[in-house]
Amino acid sequence: MITVFTDFCNPISQDFYDKTIAKVQFHQLTCTCGHSGGLTIHGYYYRSIKSEESVIRLHICRVKCSYCGTTHALLLSSIVPYSQTSLFDQVRIISCYEDSGDFSAIMNQTPSIDENIIRSVIRRYFQHWMQRLLSAGISFDPAFFFIRRCFSFFKRQFMQIKITPNILFLRPT
Ligand SMILES: [Zn+2]
Repeated sequence: MITVFTDFCNPISQDFYDKTIAKVQFHQLTCTCGHSGGLTIHGYYYRSIKSEESVIRLHICRVKCSYCGTTHALLLSSIVPYSQTSLFDQVRIISCYEDSGDFSAIMNQTPSIDENIIRSVIRRYFQHWMQRLLSAGISFDPAFFFIRRCFSFFKRQFMQIKITPNILFLRPT
C-alpha cells in the first residue's frame, strides 16, 4: 500500500479523499519494487472507516505497478491500514490513557467510538507499538514528524499490525 501524507486531524470523508488523490502525480509514486512511474489506476474498493458520527464507506483507489504487477491501495496518512478507527482517534485514545484515563470526552465527541474500541486500541498499542516507540525514542508530537518517523523506522503506519509493506508519499506542495 501507499500512504499519501495529509494533515493529521483532517476529518476523513470521500470528498477529502478524492481531492487528496486527485492532487497526486502518479508518475511520482514509487512501488515497493523500487520503480517509479509505473503505477496506474487499477480499480477501486470500499472500506469502512469511523467518522465522528457514524461509520462511512470510503471508495479507495488501487494502483498497479507495470514493472512487477503488484497492486497497492492508496491510503491517507490519517488512516490506519486494516482498522476502522482513524489515526487521529487512535492517538487520542492512547494519549488519554496515558494522561487521565477518562475517555468520556472522546466518546461524547465521537459516538462511533465505544469502550470496546478503546480497549482494543490500547491492547494493540501495548502488544505491538509501545515498546517500539520507546526504543526508537519517538513521541506523538509534532504529528508530521511522528508519522514520518514511524514510516522510516518501521516501514509502516503507526498502529498498523500486519507487516504489509507501506510506503509514505509526501505530497509536494
Ligand atoms: Zn513494482
